[in-house]
Amino acid sequence: MATRKRLKKQVYFVFAGLILIIGLIIFGINKYKEYQYHQTYEYKLLEHGYNEEEVTTILDNFSDNEHLDYFLSNEKNSNIVKLLNEEYYLDKFFYEYVAYLEENPDLSTESIVRNINVHLDKDFYEIEYETNVSLDTQMLVNKYYLLSEDYVPEDLVSVSQTYSWGELGSQKVREVAYNAFLDMWNAAEQEGYYLMINSSYRSYQDQEAVYNNYKSSSGQKYADSIAARPGSSEHQTGLAIDIFSKTNTNRNSFTDSPEAKWLEDNAHKYGFILRYPEDKVDITGYSYESWHFRYVGEDIATYIYEHDITFEEYYAYFLEK
Ligand SMILES: [Zn+2]
Repeated sequence: MATRKRLKKQVYFVFAGLILIIGLIIFGINKYKEYQYHQTYEYKLLEHGYNEEEVTTILDNFSDNEHLDYFLSNEKNSNIVKLLNEEYYLDKFFYEYVAYLEENPDLSTESIVRNINVHLDKDFYEIEYETNVSLDTQMLVNKYYLLSEDYVPEDLVSVSQTYSWGELGSQKVREVAYNAFLDMWNAAEQEGYYLMINSSYRSYQDQEAVYNNYKSSSGQKYADSIAARPGSSEHQTGLAIDIFSKTNTNRNSFTDSPEAKWLEDNAHKYGFILRYPEDKVDITGYSYESWHFRYVGEDIATYIYEHDITFEEYYAYFLEK
């Protein structure tokens, strides 16, 4: 009887010992899991003060230690996370955005991303990139991206005198833009508008003469305000045309004409964009030009029209490598 009781007691101790060991193992595993979690960026970012949504945004954008460590080694700043959610945010400019944000704390994150993408943190002509002409109808020419002296489009064609002023051969555009223009011209005519090309292809040398003329008579500042420097005029691409109408033959009368309104609303259907809109002067660096249209193809023109952005912004996000 006594042996049986002892045996029962021993079984009880063994059992209790096992429970204790299992308990310790579970405790140990949990502790180890907790330790592991504490090593993750998710935990560290939460500890650093970012909320769950912000942490998700950061982790969705970056998997490399360099960027993640950046967030941990700098003071918490929710605006930096907001940058990552901007529609046209580009990873390659991350540090530029952050530095620019620091210098311009009052700008919206949307403006920060836009300005850096299109180089507005620099003055016009302060940096000069060579235009990537291999992009063909999608090439960008502006006050940061310049064409070389010897760039001449290969497929220039003369505009018929039905659609342009001046002698035959004095107006030239690239064939692809001319064909699109003719489609647009016909559509406008159907609605009772008679479009006329006033200016089209201009060589580097032509532009140089125009610019230098202003420069020598009134100085560089004035020249820059009124004309593009040689190499930076879109007219050198053969893809830009200045359009007036038969009834409104100059800049002033054209801007308020029904033809200008028709072009603004319809040009994208034929692959043209209003290149220098009234509300984008700070981005394009050009005053409103209701007459200046640039051929970029229907898809891009439609995107730009529907999203109300400039070609500069489109180029930075979709075309520049
Ligand atoms: Zn023009």
